[in-house]
Amino acid sequence: MSKTVIPVAPARQGLEIPPLSREPGAGPLVDARGRGLRDLRISVTDRCNFRCTYCMPREVFGTDYPFLPHAELLRFEEIVRVARVFHGYGISKIRLTGGEPLLRRGIEDLVAMLHEALPEVDLTLTTNGSALRQKARALYAAGLRRVTVSLDSLDDATFRAMNDADFPVAGVLEAIDAAAAAGLAPVKVNMVVKRGTNDHQVVDMARHFRGTGHIVRFIEFMDVGATNGWRMDDVVPSAEVVRRIAQAFPCEPANPNHFGEVAKRWRYKDGQGEFGIISSVTQAFCSSCNRARLSTDGSVYTCLFADRGYDLRSILRGGGTDDDLARAVAAIWQRREDRYSEVRTEETARQRKVEMSFIGG
Ligand code: SAM
Ligand code: SF4
Ligand code: SF4
Repeated sequence: MSKTVIPVAPARQGLEIPPLSREPGAGPLVDARGRGLRDLRISVTDRCNFRCTYCMPREVFGTDYPFLPHAELLRFEEIVRVARVFHGYGISKIRLTGGEPLLRRGIEDLVAMLHEALPEVDLTLTTNGSALRQKARALYAAGLRRVTVSLDSLDDATFRAMNDADFPVAGVLEAIDAAAAAGLAPVKVNMVVKRGTNDHQVVDMARHFRGTGHIVRFIEFMDVGATNGWRMDDVVPSAEVVRRIAQAFPCEPANPNHFGEVAKRWRYKDGQGEFGIISSVTQAFCSSCNRARLSTDGSVYTCLFADRGYDLRSILRGGGTDDDLARAVAAIWQRREDRYSEVRTEETARQRKVEMSFIGG
């Protein structure tokens, strides 16, 4: 491989791509804490039609919010190129997310391109469900096999208030049915649990999806970004979520599907399926975190709570080769030390961090 100087666009204030610590190619790529690279999350748009209060509060993401102009977004060909480079280091899973990924025009074309380029990769997508009923068949035809749909409550008033776009529960439930009918079953259903807002809905959600084959994942409310007014008091520890569900439906822990799985699995003892808990706040899982994130405008973020990323778009658009990209990815990963959730305090929660809608959940 040739040695190249990687350009960084100063105007975008990315982190400077460091020099390689060692030549990639000799053994698996590991970061400074010995963690491999398994999972790539790609944000395909920073826009969304919801204004979930914990993610894109309307006071901040108002009508004058400066979303990225189209020219700044990575094009589909560029996304596929980056995905191939990551795949060269052994990633086995790609999640398309955002913002709301189904708002990106032609998203099914991107799915088809990724599926064709990397057929062995487990390709999935996280969506708020609002456009899934219309798109489920096309996504399946393009090669998508799994989908995660976010739904924070079964109570219509609570859900409409949380998404702050007046979107009804029925619309998301129909989307889940449509996804299953199109072949995208079982569907994973993400519920962010916020104390005093929707935590009264935990057992109802468990009850509703028990026995359907779909898997609810209860997510602790996180201090992503800098605008969602996070307070520790608003976090419902996953242990409490499990306690509440177990009182209604006896359950037991199940083995992880693979090392580094984010959601801890719990199984209903009566055989009615399982649910997951994602305890990013009370039981940090940084030590097994093997996820990289590609932002809408083509920067790599090595942690959900980072404030800056490494600009790959300058390499893509500056005539860089795949080799240049591969060396940049290796250098970025080798230097990675992130462990934000292990050191989180009320103080760090107020630090500047990138918004989740920009780098993807
Ligand atoms: N718009 C899509 C959706 O909502 O499914 C995809 C992007 S969204 C940022 C990805 C996931 O992050 C969603 O399941 C959402 O509920 C979750 N999320 C957003 N903000 C969060 C927060 N503050 N704490 C925990 N999870 C959050
Ligand atoms: Fe949009 Fe998803 Fe964020 Fe809600 S969680 S505002 S649906 S990106
Ligand atoms: Fe990974 Fe950062 Fe989350 Fe820790 S805080 S699990 S390093 S994304």
